[in-house]
Amino acid sequence: MKVELHRHLDISLRLETLLELAQERGLEGQSSSLAGFRDKVVLHSPLQDLDSVLDRFRLLQQVLDRPEVLERVAYETVHDCAREGTTAVELRFSPSFVCELNGLSWNDILDGFESGMRRALRDLPLMQAGLICIASRNYGVDSAARTVEFYLQNRTRFIGLDLAGNEQDFPCRMFEEAFRPAREAGAQVTIHAGEATGPESIWEAIEFLGARRIGHGVSSILDGQLLEYLSEKSICLEMCPTSNWLTRAVKSREEHPLPQLLRAGVPVTINTDDPTIFGVTLPSEFEICRDRMGLTDLEIETCHAHAVRASFLKFSTQ
Ligand SMILES: [Zn+2]
Repeated sequence: MKVELHRHLDISLRLETLLELAQERGLEGQSSSLAGFRDKVVLHSPLQDLDSVLDRFRLLQQVLDRPEVLERVAYETVHDCAREGTTAVELRFSPSFVCELNGLSWNDILDGFESGMRRALRDLPLMQAGLICIASRNYGVDSAARTVEFYLQNRTRFIGLDLAGNEQDFPCRMFEEAFRPAREAGAQVTIHAGEATGPESIWEAIEFLGARRIGHGVSSILDGQLLEYLSEKSICLEMCPTSNWLTRAVKSREEHPLPQLLRAGVPVTINTDDPTIFGVTLPSEFEICRDRMGLTDLEIETCHAHAVRASFLKFSTQ
């Protein structure tokens, strides 16, 4: 069984689909080639400035403009994951991010993504998939509180809740109140933390938001006590090597702390994060872990086993 825990559904579009949607909307010339478009959309070297990635996010927001498009994107993504050899995938999206430019209702967004996912699962009877609802830090505390409310209203349609976005300016502790109803309801919580900031962010995610898993958690390597805690409590790190390199969370993939964390007993998993802009697949990420970081086949199997154990899917009602 191969499980992927951390993949953003709203940043998982096939390049062919993204190009077609961009051309339909006049955002890209009719004569654009897929190769030229790939060069424009996929990051090949670490980010120089935030604007370069914001432009890419904007393009995604511009094309994800109708429930039918969301349905198609979710359908294709589940098929792509199956083709990558994944047998269960947790797909996350931020309703506030998707609706920002198009004014779609959050219900329409969930309906669109969910029906595409379900249609793909009907084609793939051995596959499992579930949705995680993301509250985006950058839209502020009130928006996060509304997202938590939306998550709770649709509790049976989501398998978990996440907080993502700018960690530096919007630390976890700001969202303690917003997340309280979810904690009280026993939500399965994963939090993006320790990607752009130090280990204190990971402690806060656990303490203030009730995180049972951490998105990235790269900076945990700086805090021995935290490593012990993560391994003792089986708090899994959803690591995304290429993403961590391209966003400068690590200097290079060779210097990624993933092997060290795994060998210290932390439940580490390997994931793609944003396949559209990072140009990765799950097998390509595993290859990087083997070839550039020196993970053994047994260690790779251990990462797969951690993902199975940490998956929220077993808690879903589907
Ligand atoms: Zn992420």
